[in-house]
Amino acid sequence: MERYKQLGIKLTPQRLAILDYLDGNKSHPSAEDIYRAVSKRFPTMSFATVYNTLGSLRYKGRVLELTIDPKKKRYDPDTKHHHHIICIECKNIVDVHKDFKLSIPDALTEGFDLIGNHIEFYGICPKCKKRKKGL
Ligand code: ZN
Ligand code: MN
Repeated sequence: MERYKQLGIKLTPQRLAILDYLDGNKSHPSAEDIYRAVSKRFPTMSFATVYNTLGSLRYKGRVLELTIDPKKKRYDPDTKHHHHIICIECKNIVDVHKDFKLSIPDALTEGFDLIGNHIEFYGICPKCKKRKKGL
């Protein structure tokens, strides 16, 4: 509770439950995933509450919105710089904590001062590989 106070958003029990669910969550949940999980404790909570809370957290820089899954936005409470691998079969997303020393030749930056990058890797996860072999 204490460490959420500095967030500067109104803390309702529902919002706290959303924050709790996100805390340390490495599954990169969608808004629907969060809604499903948290509404078990708060059956009257609306999807809009989840969506609006995510919007506030994003605005405060406390959650990242990932667009790596083409079907739905995914959310990441880990705001440290990192990259992602997504399974093209089950859409599982895992973190890649590594600093790739990438550079673009000046001629290609179109005058931009570059400040960062985010690499999206695509692949087949171990579970899906196993399932495919079993077919
Ligand atoms: Zn998979
Ligand atoms: Mn991540």
